[in-house]
Amino acid sequence: MNENELKIKVNELRQEGYGYKRIAKELSITIGTVRYVCLELETTGNCKNCNTKIKSTKGKKKKLFCSDKCRLQWWNNNPSKVNKKAYYTHECNHCHKEFTAYGNSKRLYCSQECYINSKKSNEVNDDEAR
Ligand SMILES: [Zn+2]
Ligand SMILES: [Zn+2]
Repeated sequence: MNENELKIKVNELRQEGYGYKRIAKELSITIGTVRYVCLELETTGNCKNCNTKIKSTKGKKKKLFCSDKCRLQWWNNNPSKVNKKAYYTHECNHCHKEFTAYGNSKRLYCSQECYINSKKSNEVNDDEAR
């Protein structure tokens, strides 16, 4: 088994909640090797967007993207996968469609367009009321 295969296997077992000891036994390798592979897994990863290999500094938070550009691109492409906790669902005041905004936003409209349209229709209503 080469190192890559080993990494994949160790990763799989780790995902299933196996401890170092059990992984070592399962793959007939030493615990030291498991530890080494796990460390490697923790400090290396692939950019979620372009799949480029990235190495993060040990002890620091694992990087998910190779660059800010990739992060923004991925977020734009995967709005539903973005950290839900930081996002709140609001109902657009104009079209009543649900939209998500970052944080406890005061945003009232799903888009600039709705905002403008809403202003416009309010003006019309005002005129009619007069
Ligand atoms: Zn990338
Ligand atoms: Zn809207």
